[in-house]
Amino acid sequence: MRIDHEYVKQQPVGVRHLGNGVAVPAPSIEAIRVKRYLLLGGAQEIAQPYWIEKVDKETGEVTKRSEFRVSCCMRSSIDPEKGVSFWRNEDRVGFAGLMRCGNVWSCPLCCAKVMGIREKQIRALFDGVLSNNGSAVMVTFTAAHTPEDSLADLLVKFKKAQKSMSMCREYRHLIEARAGAVVTTEIMYGQSGWHPHQHHAWFYLFSPGPNVEQLAADLYAVWERHAGKQGLSVLREWRGRNIGVDVRQAWGASEYLTKFDRERDWGLDSEMTAGRLKLASGTSVSVWGLLEDAICRGNGSGSWALFVEYMRATKGKASISLKAARNLCVQFGVDMNVDDFADANKSGESEIFATLSGASFDQVFRNGGLGSLLEAARSRGLSGVEAAAAAISNGCVFS
Ligand SMILES: [Zn+2]
Repeated sequence: MRIDHEYVKQQPVGVRHLGNGVAVPAPSIEAIRVKRYLLLGGAQEIAQPYWIEKVDKETGEVTKRSEFRVSCCMRSSIDPEKGVSFWRNEDRVGFAGLMRCGNVWSCPLCCAKVMGIREKQIRALFDGVLSNNGSAVMVTFTAAHTPEDSLADLLVKFKKAQKSMSMCREYRHLIEARAGAVVTTEIMYGQSGWHPHQHHAWFYLFSPGPNVEQLAADLYAVWERHAGKQGLSVLREWRGRNIGVDVRQAWGASEYLTKFDRERDWGLDSEMTAGRLKLASGTSVSVWGLLEDAICRGNGSGSWALFVEYMRATKGKASISLKAARNLCVQFGVDMNVDDFADANKSGESEIFATLSGASFDQVFRNGGLGSLLEAARSRGLSGVEAAAAAISNGCVFS
């Protein structure tokens, strides 16, 4: 039973105006927030049958743990004695005392939390560089792919190609003037299969920065060669746009971050994002779009199997790297830690206003009502938590 699903269904659907008279249906902000919990529940259901067994060499004792960390996210309190608490910081509300998985690839909740922190770090880098007369460009690297390519294979080849390119003389010459870079790996899925790609932000401590057209042409020649060595083919242009390597001026952090907003739905809690619109056009979807499709179509569907493949291929992989921005981080006092697990489990300054026993929380979890429980806490405080927990435990929607 998924109480959150019933909750979302009962929410009124509004309209969002895109300009030029175009409007699309837009769910309420409450529905969007609760939907993240539905997506988490879906990811956990998909991950559920996969276990890794470990045999103790001395005792022969077999221990089992889930293959995917997302299975354990927000499932139980860290300290059963203390139960699960609710915190508030201005208009933000959340659970405290729950173990989070920190997997930004497969967990929509940890992704939102961790990416919020990364966004601040990236913004601080842009601000530091741009306010010191510097400049920045966005560089996107892609490679061609087909529906037959496995994601794991594509990711390995992509990474090897980037690595060998980074060591070659021509490339080193092209980045000579660069003061640092942020590298983000993204994955989408479309009619031509998995689409892993990288968005870089390159920083310069002078302005204007490089000629973007020239840089794109020079980088393309190098990228094509190194990708080719790994068996990846690269397209120079598609429909008049640079595709293998695209370079653009970045006037601020927002331009860079908006790219991920579209692909990662970072802004899921602020408004309906363009990622969903992409889903409608049928060209490519974010992984959350794929997960939603898997949940709707169920076990045995293509999307379900694709999400398992995705969880396996991204396991242990870094999503954002600030390694090449080390000097800039030091210069502008930007925290360069990118420990996703630690950040997902970080608790900020906040006030605790309600606590639920471990057993009550467990019942709400079993009935799939975490998202709507949190909404009740947000709007009605302590009394809302108690009333919603009782209703959800009895299989009723509380709104
Ligand atoms: Zn998580």
